[in-house]
This record gives sequence, structure tokens and C-alpha cells, in this order.
Amino acid sequence: MDKEIRDVVIIGTGPAGYTSAIYTGRANLKPLVIEGRQPGGQLMITTDIENFPGFPEGIPGPELMGRMREQAARFGVEFQFGSVSEADVSRSPFVLTLDDGEEIVTRTLIIATGANAKWLGIESEETYRGRGVSACATCDGFFFRNCRVFVIGGGDTAMEEALYLTKFASEVVLVHRRDEFRASKIMSLRASKNEKITTMLSEVVDEILGDDMKVTGIRLKNLKTGELTEHACDGVFMAIGHEPNARIFQGQLDMDDYGYILTKGHSTETSVKGVFACGDVQDYTYRQAVTAVGTGCMAAIEAERFLESIR
Ligand code: NAP
Repeated sequence: MDKEIRDVVIIGTGPAGYTSAIYTGRANLKPLVIEGRQPGGQLMITTDIENFPGFPEGIPGPELMGRMREQAARFGVEFQFGSVSEADVSRSPFVLTLDDGEEIVTRTLIIATGANAKWLGIESEETYRGRGVSACATCDGFFFRNCRVFVIGGGDTAMEEALYLTKFASEVVLVHRRDEFRASKIMSLRASKNEKITTMLSEVVDEILGDDMKVTGIRLKNLKTGELTEHACDGVFMAIGHEPNARIFQGQLDMDDYGYILTKGHSTETSVKGVFACGDVQDYTYRQAVTAVGTGCMAAIEAERFLESIR
């Protein structure tokens, strides 16, 4: 029996994936959403979202994602648990292979697989995530008014996060593992000129300290002397890079040096016709739920127009 060819398959269930599902579902394209191993994406580990328009009192991340899923289901969107282990977009229709071996064939593909912040991988970081440890100053900076916070990393993101945090925090300490920043000159200069920012170089995080409820300090290790030092603080922001979830498309879609999928001009079109990318997998600049929602909508409209053009 011939395999059913779907019109739209969406990979990913963050704000971008759910939004493209709502739009394509409502356009009667009967989209299938592959939910991934962590349905709901990064917002499932975000406690309170205070900057998503429409929720003046804020909304917990899991609740917002639950509502988006419900809204998509209302328009007949089909959900399938599992993740895509292989994708062949070299010819149309595209073929996806799930981790249980099932194959799915589709005329258009919307990639909304997101990106994950890189973490140090130490236990105390996990313990205090959302209780003083964060990887997003735009999301959580507001909670650190008049506090002392540490930012870990030496790239542009670290500079940007540190500068953003000076709007709230009384003191921002930038910690980098080498004695030279990787960040662009202009960003490093901007950070060094800011009176609230101090830097500690050749230092790595040994442990994040807390009282079981929240972060109370940080222990650093100097890589040149081996000396351990403890410092009081209220928050620790990781800014050591992000990893876009696009590995299965490597060599098939155009990407930048960091593995983000490149989209054309003001669109979500990738280098392959019929394949669209939205949300954080193609955006290292904004990385916000609202911007992901916006590009999710764009991808849905562009997929719909593409289908019309090939009919
Ligand atoms: P990045 O340039 O890869 O920098 C990551 C930083 O984290 C590096 O300084 C790295 O140290 C450090 N690091 C990595 N793993 C670590 C670990 N386990 N422990 C301690 N430190 C660790 O990443 P990014 O800053 O997110 O920037 C990614 C891209 O986005 C870049 O192209 C950047 O220019 C761009 N970006 C641009 C802007 C802007 O123009 N406004 C803003 C943000 C990002 P080492 O230096 O020793 O490797």
C-alpha cells in the first residue's frame, strides 16, 4: 500500500511549532506535529513568563504551552509523540524517520526544533535552575533588582546579558575561563565601560552555592593558581552559547557557522523549497517566545502558499 503523503508536518512543540500548527490546522491542512522528547520546549522549565502579551499577571511556562497545545487540538491538529532521528529533504516529498523506525512522508516541512542553552553540567546548576540560575537575562533579569549577579561566558552573549542585567542588578560580575574575551571589541568595550560590571578572568565555576531554596553564592576556581574562592550573589546567568537542534539537517540545509538554519530574507524559507524553519532554530538574536510565535505564523502562511503553488 502506498504511504500517505501529508501536506504539512511540523517538528517541535515550542511556541513556534504550536503557532504553525494552529495556523495550518485552521487552514484545514491537517498538520501532523512531531512532539519530540520534551513536548512544550524550553518554556516547560520556565516558571513565570511576565512578558508574553495578553497575560498581565504573568503565566507559568507549562500553562502557556498547555493552552497553545489545546488551541492547536481545537483545529484538528494531530500530535505524535517521538522524535525525528533522520530526515531526507533531498527530494520531494520529504521523508522523516522517527526513532521507532516509522516513516512519515510530507510535501512541506516546518522545522521548529528550537535551540538549547548550553549548561556547565554541574549538579548545583541543575538544583538551582529557576531559583537563581538562569540562561536568559531578558526572561529573568527583572527578578534581580538591586541584586549581585554573576554572568558566565566570554562571548557576545555574555556581554549582552551582563549589560542587560545592569538595568536591574546593583552589581554584575562577568566570569570568563580565559584571560581574553571572545566577544567582539565593541561589545567588550561597552561592558568594560559600564560601572556596574566587573570581570574575573581565568576563572571557572566550581560550584553554585545555595540554601536549598535559592542561590546564595558561587565558588570559583582560578585556572592559573588553582585557588578556590567563594563569593556571595543572588543569581548566576549562564551565557556559554546555545545549540540549535538542527543536526539531522546538516549537509542538507544551509546553516551558519554555529549550526543555525539560514532563512531567506524576511521569510522562513530555507535553502530547500517546501522546507521552512521558525523559532530559535533559525534565530540566535531574539530567542523569545513572542518572536518564535511570530515566525511560526510566518512559516504556516508560507507553507500554505507553497502548497497552493504546487497544486
Ligand atoms: P560563543 O561566541 O560561542 O561564546 C561562548 C563563550 O562561552 C565563550 O567565551 C566560551 O569560552 C565560553 N564557554 C563555552 N563553554 C564554556 C564552559 N563549559 N565553561 C565556561 N565557559 C564556557 O557564543 P555566544 O556568545 O552565544 O555567541 C554566539 C554567536 O552569536 C556569535 O557569533 C556571536 O557573535 C553572536 N551574537 C551576537 C550578538 C550581537 O552582535 N549583539 C549578541 C549575541 C550573540 P572560550 O572563549 O574560552 O571558548
